[in-house]
Amino acid sequence: MSNLMEKIVSLCKRRGFIYPSSEVYGGFGSCYDFGPLGVEMKNNIKKAWWNEMTKFHENIVGLDAAILMSPKVWQASGHLTAGFADELVECKKCHKRFRPDEIQHPRLSNLTSGVCPECGGELTKPRKFNLMMKTFVGPVEDEASLTYLRAETCQGIYMNFENVLNSMRVKIPFGVVQIGKAFRNEITPKDFIFRIREFEQMEMEWFCHPKEADKYFDYWLNERLKWYENLGIKKENLRQVEVPEKERAHYASRQIDIEYKFPFGWKEIEGIHNRGDWDLSNHSKHSGKDLKYFNEETKEKYFPYIVETSVGVERSLFAFLCEAYQEIPGGRTKTTKPTKEVEILLKLDKKIAPIKVAVLPLVRNKPGLVKKAKEVYQILKPHFVCQYDELGSIGRRYRRVDEIGCPWVLTIDFDTLKDNTVTLRDRDTMAQERVKIADLVELLKEKLSEAKPRPLS
Ligand code: ATP
Repeated sequence: MSNLMEKIVSLCKRRGFIYPSSEVYGGFGSCYDFGPLGVEMKNNIKKAWWNEMTKFHENIVGLDAAILMSPKVWQASGHLTAGFADELVECKKCHKRFRPDEIQHPRLSNLTSGVCPECGGELTKPRKFNLMMKTFVGPVEDEASLTYLRAETCQGIYMNFENVLNSMRVKIPFGVVQIGKAFRNEITPKDFIFRIREFEQMEMEWFCHPKEADKYFDYWLNERLKWYENLGIKKENLRQVEVPEKERAHYASRQIDIEYKFPFGWKEIEGIHNRGDWDLSNHSKHSGKDLKYFNEETKEKYFPYIVETSVGVERSLFAFLCEAYQEIPGGRTKTTKPTKEVEILLKLDKKIAPIKVAVLPLVRNKPGLVKKAKEVYQILKPHFVCQYDELGSIGRRYRRVDEIGCPWVLTIDFDTLKDNTVTLRDRDTMAQERVKIADLVELLKEKLSEAKPRPLS
């Protein structure tokens, strides 16, 4: 793990973003729990994505399909066959499995070394391992009740293609969005929350005429890149990679990965796929239901093509954290003596920052200040996710809120008791302004909406 990664992982645990799952039992197979700050940040990312798709674009509706589906879905989608499998080698001695690209021969770039990096045992030839997680539905644990935890959320959308068409009177082109859990039995999960076994996806399936799929592919790729930039990711830390045919997902006729420059290298955070008519035609074939679209005006009947945008909530959250993390040796304060410590500043976009406002009494041994600060906290609490903090020196408390990326801090001091104003400090500029308590809610709402999404496109 790189030094920067270690620091981010440690910050996440220390400050309530992310904890290892089942930690009292030593953790569990690359699963993670999101703490009080993590869940707020995750919710903010999901809300930003949902708003972007459904409010700032036309013809997009939402869906929340069940995780458990008929196993026939996965048969038809190709997920139970070699299509959805990773190629792995296994150690004959310790039975650990590795992706061939992780244990390449030091001199021969296309060959695995044949030796287990863990115990030195002999490795098998590469074999395909399916990533679907099995489960049993009903009282009898036999083949008849076997099904799978969904490995991607989009299949629920294809299952409801006709329902949405009939109930919502939408016309092609239109999109259906969904956010939900997906599960993959990743054999080599790693890099903290980058590759995990239980994660959330935010997927949009755009149904369009086959002749328009290329045009919409370019359009959505662009829109998605802008989304990351609007939420604070620098252009130079994003890139698009055209995936060659042999490496593409089994359903994709074209695939561009949006990659982010993580501390451990460039890695995919989102896939843009032209799935063609793979899904609807296969589900038609396997179910016997005609899932073609009929255009009333032109009388044309066809399988729509699907352009998909697919991003992991945790992976994008990880990218936002990496992008926001800054260390300032000696600290930022110019007015007081600089500390010897390195100060951490998490420059998260205001929309995704988990805590929006911190309320601090200047000191905690003056009951009048504490009482007033608690009053201010109660005024703001119904409107914003706030934090009240009275422990430690004011400088130390400022540092604590900078570390969690809180955009605004309110300090209640002796003047507050006289004139009902407080000091509002901006995380990024450290500028302080004096604000009337009565104006706080409106002012903060305005500041938050300054970071508004771009207009309808
Ligand atoms: P990778 O090649 O990294 O395994 P993938 O190409 O299989 O990813 P897709 O099937 O295109 O990924 O899934 C779309 C998105 O879902 C990914 O870009 C990623 O953000 C997220 N995702 C996929 N697998 C995982 C995982 N194991 N852990 C966390 N996020 C994931």
